[in-house]
Amino acid sequence: MAAKVAIPEYAATALEVIPVVASNTRATFRSHKTKNVQWRITQLRKLYWAVEDYKAELAAALQKDLHKSEFEAVLSEIDWVKNQCLWMIAHVEQFAKDDKLGAPFVPATFSMMKFRVKKEPLGAVLIIGPYNYPVQLVLDPFIAAIAAGCTAVVKPSELCVATAMVIKDMIEKRLDPNAFAVVTGGIPETEALLNEKWDKIYFTGSAQVGTIIAKKAAETLTPVCLELGGRNPAFVTKNANLKLAARRLMWGKCLNAGQVCVSHNYVLIDKGSTAAFIEQLKATYKDMFPKGAKASPDLARIVNPRHFQRLKKMLDETRGKIVMGGELDESELFIEPTAVLVDSLDDSMMKEESFGPIFAIYSVHSLDQALAVASSVHRTPLALYTFGSKAENKKVLHEMTSGGATVNDSFFHGSVGTVPFGGVGDSGIGQTHGKAAFDSFTHQRTVAETPGWAEVILRVRYMPYDWGQLRF
Ligand code: NAD
Repeated sequence: MAAKVAIPEYAATALEVIPVVASNTRATFRSHKTKNVQWRITQLRKLYWAVEDYKAELAAALQKDLHKSEFEAVLSEIDWVKNQCLWMIAHVEQFAKDDKLGAPFVPATFSMMKFRVKKEPLGAVLIIGPYNYPVQLVLDPFIAAIAAGCTAVVKPSELCVATAMVIKDMIEKRLDPNAFAVVTGGIPETEALLNEKWDKIYFTGSAQVGTIIAKKAAETLTPVCLELGGRNPAFVTKNANLKLAARRLMWGKCLNAGQVCVSHNYVLIDKGSTAAFIEQLKATYKDMFPKGAKASPDLARIVNPRHFQRLKKMLDETRGKIVMGGELDESELFIEPTAVLVDSLDDSMMKEESFGPIFAIYSVHSLDQALAVASSVHRTPLALYTFGSKAENKKVLHEMTSGGATVNDSFFHGSVGTVPFGGVGDSGIGQTHGKAAFDSFTHQRTVAETPGWAEVILRVRYMPYDWGQLRF
């Protein structure tokens, strides 16, 4: 991919334009043109080719904003959304079809009726994205919104300004400008958007901002989908393959420099295996970064000085012992993949979502203790990982809930874009990916039809009520 590409200069959308943009998308939805499934497919095809044509700009912007390697940019952002587009194009007609329901036989009076569930687009929707996967996490719900027949305004994160501007240029030049728009900016622009009436708000980001969004949406009873964060545990039992667990968990912390909502926040490890696990982590580090993580082109950087300082503070405040990594360089926003052995649940490393390449290791005497610790840290995390025997993995999944879970690996329940993904409890409301994403922007409208001839039986409902008429 060519490194030299033009990225539009950053400009936040003017506040006075925002009501106009919102009202355009509402008017376009009311024109009913988005209800035509072929129109939706055309827009999805246009988006697919737009992403293909803009891939150099997107990769360059991701490098600029996050120092994201081209490998990760292609696999986890650019090709990821292209694949979602293709999958949705292949399935949209099937998803948009009415579900025909058999007539209920009980009571017999209903047996002549017809029932179907019509899949109706919700309307004009607002999609607000986070900074960590600034392409994937706005375009994935956007694809689902188009497929479902909604019009949409997309608000990418202001922390990745280059990516936000490429997305704006791409969507506004290639897709129907009356149906879709991109608003750039931060809090004032998002607040202006939230002052508009939407048919759904789809938010991905922190629980703190998710709460603001949900409160604001509640004022107008606007439905929300909230994809939030959490303190995700990884269980490594005494029967785990330690080398495999170390490699897979290290990868989970190094991808995008750990700025991943589903990456593990801490590892609960059997006391007897702790030293050997740490040795395996160190060996994996050497394999993945033979010249050190700082010299590697593969490790992304922390998005900005504020987040760098947040992570530094967590490390400064830990009372645990750094057992791997620990190097920081603010001039490069570099934080080395770092593991800290902690012995208190009050440690900053256990209490806060790290959202960076640092994680805690906490030793336990038993799997029961590990489960009790995880439940006390966060009862409803977004993700959970378990490395153990079949019976141990089963016990973990049975006794501890989470938005999603991967057995014997990191992330995969969330990286495959066709299976449902979302939080539970305070880690999220609603689901995305695959058909779940389509459903998230769809109203399932039950329609009943009663034939006129059925009056011969259905007359029994009319007053004056007469038990005698029921005996036909
Ligand atoms: P964030 O909540 O700070 O920002 C997300 C969006 O909200 C941005 O577009 C931002 O402009 C907007 N925003 C920020 N403050 C606002 C305010 N006061 N009022 C209105 N809008 C506001 O999140 P982030 O730092 O970009 O992303 C990191 C968080 O997102 C982590 O907690 C992570 O776990 C979570 N996350 C969750 C998922 C998921 O799928 N569940 C995916 C990625 C990230």
